[in-house]
Amino acid sequence: MRRKIVAGNWKMNMTPSQAVALIEELKPLVVSEDVDVVFCVPAIDIIPAVEACKGTNIHIGAENMYFEEKGAFTGEIAPDMLTDAGVEYVILGHSERREYFAETNETVNKKVLKAFEHGLTPIICCGESLTQREQGITIDWIRQQIKIAFLNVTADQAAKAVIAYEPIWAIGTGKVATTEQAEEVCAAIRQCIKELYGSDTAEAIRIQYGGSVSAASAPELFAQPDIDGGLVGGASLKKDFGAIVNYK
Ligand code: PEP
Repeated sequence: MRRKIVAGNWKMNMTPSQAVALIEELKPLVVSEDVDVVFCVPAIDIIPAVEACKGTNIHIGAENMYFEEKGAFTGEIAPDMLTDAGVEYVILGHSERREYFAETNETVNKKVLKAFEHGLTPIICCGESLTQREQGITIDWIRQQIKIAFLNVTADQAAKAVIAYEPIWAIGTGKVATTEQAEEVCAAIRQCIKELYGSDTAEAIRIQYGGSVSAASAPELFAQPDIDGGLVGGASLKKDFGAIVNYK
């Protein structure tokens, strides 16, 4: 039985002091025995967030990471900077990074490999545009993203990864994919992992849905057989996040 995982993606929101205030507000609301809870926060908020979450069930994630160890890469964050600060998860290949910061399937793959090397759990994002959905190429597109993201990743590593299926047209738009649409793609992702690694890995890997998840939509989405939780943007900055974590 896979454990659910609900992660908040704060994006470029919250100063360090605002981050601590939000964590204090959300702490009692996100307590859960059955769900892994992750706050993925801007780099500058990581240290105060780790401190504020000590002794709670909240894990801290980063929103991005570079694939080199160190050196002349101005503005980038190295994997051991994250682990040393207490980070456990890292979002990789978010559609906003792909659209605005030229991330490709290949750079996502390099980051995934580097994250595993450092014991970080990657939350690997994939998703189609509205045009791709309308052209009927959603599954082909997602399979391509997954196959490249997992190049040279071992079965043991893959079993520990988290994949976030996030249709781009549903992110920040208030348009949630229907439960059927979300389950269809998450099942196809699991099938793709099965083809790459076999049934055990496919059964172990956790697949989230992301895209305008709310307290209202979470219960039905998270009840689907291939949806193991959510990656939540806008609603992760509000009290609603507590209701999403405690969706049952
Ligand atoms: C996201 O950015 O990962 C996301 C799912 O955002 P939202 O929930 O706001 O659509």
